[in-house]
Amino acid sequence: MPRIVMKFGGTSVADLDRIRHVAARVKRQVDAGDQVAVVVSAMAGATNQLVAWCQALSPLHDAREYDAVLATGEQVTTGLLAIALQAIGVEARSWAGWQIPLRTDDSHGAARILAIEAADLVSRMQSGQVAVVAGFQGLAPDNRIATLGRGGSDTSAVALAAAIAADRCDIYTDVDGVYTTDPRMVPRARRLEKIAYEEMLELASVGAKVLQTRSVELAMKSRVRVRVLSSFGDPDNNSQGTLLVDEDEIVEKEIVTGIAYSRDEAKVTLRHVPDRPGIATAVFGPLSAAHVNVDMIVQNISAEGTTDMTFTIGRADLPRVIDCLERERDKIGFSTLLTDRDVAKISVVGVGMRSHAGIANTMFRTLAEKSINIQVISTSEIKVSVLIAQDYTELAVRALHTAYGLDAA
Ligand code: ADP
Ligand code: ASP
Ligand code: MG
Repeated sequence: MPRIVMKFGGTSVADLDRIRHVAARVKRQVDAGDQVAVVVSAMAGATNQLVAWCQALSPLHDAREYDAVLATGEQVTTGLLAIALQAIGVEARSWAGWQIPLRTDDSHGAARILAIEAADLVSRMQSGQVAVVAGFQGLAPDNRIATLGRGGSDTSAVALAAAIAADRCDIYTDVDGVYTTDPRMVPRARRLEKIAYEEMLELASVGAKVLQTRSVELAMKSRVRVRVLSSFGDPDNNSQGTLLVDEDEIVEKEIVTGIAYSRDEAKVTLRHVPDRPGIATAVFGPLSAAHVNVDMIVQNISAEGTTDMTFTIGRADLPRVIDCLERERDKIGFSTLLTDRDVAKISVVGVGMRSHAGIANTMFRTLAEKSINIQVISTSEIKVSVLIAQDYTELAVRALHTAYGLDAA
């Protein structure tokens, strides 16, 4: 009997009508003879509201309490979907992360999944019961609820699919697959039938929110077949979405596969840092201990024994970063701490970059033609990223989409 994991994101369970619609889709899958586990997100907007409440009370809140608050969003939708399924004659029950249990590490707010002890859940699935699982949450070693970082339900779904040896993990969302760029920003974006794991991983990590980065990492490692498709529209006439595949399964390789942007960045500059051995670890050591991910880094040449150091972080981490650096100010010895929230990171991604030169220069030239200033640059084997002023995000993404020949005809 095929075993399928179906994951529905926030917009797919945004209200009771959408939840009824999801229940009908799940019923179709059950009627087709599959064993089904469903992973759900919180209703659209619910998690943002919960985050805002935590932040309003205290910007430097306790991450364990933040998790206790955030995990409630998914608890609501599991119960509601189970009720909606029962109402149309499908046997179903809800599972919170701790009930499975889905075990995580102790990085509250951005926990990693360590193990899923799914024997009980599987035996109920085998007896014909649909498992409705809360995405985004698990149980940390301190016996407290942990959440997996924003967008984490994708990772819950892929990890569950791996744990129960599912034949496929279908990620239902509000677009009908992975596109060459965000189709909501660029109407001429094209849907990709297939995308290589490596490219999807890179696109997700630089801001394409359609899949959480860790979900792609996990799918690649555990060989889970992942498909991204729409939960909207008529199920009989839906597109087949996008399948994640190995690179060698893609015959027509484009040089650039996709373009992503992220407005969730902040830029931090430390002026007049002493230019001496050990300064990088003096700055980044405490940030790493505070679980802050630092992304792009540039350091200027030295003038009179000091230098300026600029780096980017997730915007949500900014209060913690300022707090942390101010506490270390004497040890590091910088003169001024400057921050800028009005930045965006634009990235072009493609495995073809490995064998083609000039990709980065096309990006720099295109942005220059639009008079967009580049503040920071970083590259990897299959990606080039630049940091620009946030106001130019849309202009930059559209111009690059055209420049790399990605526009739909
Ligand atoms: P869900 O709530 O279902 O998890 P998300 O909002 O997290 O949905 O992800 C889907 C959104 O991702 C789309 O609405 C789209 O705006 C955005 N997106 C960004 N980049 C891409 C891309 N390359 N292809 C498809 N969607 C993308
Ligand atoms: N509800 C969580 C969020 O908004 C998890 C998810 O949707 O995947 O980040
Ligand atoms: Mg999502």
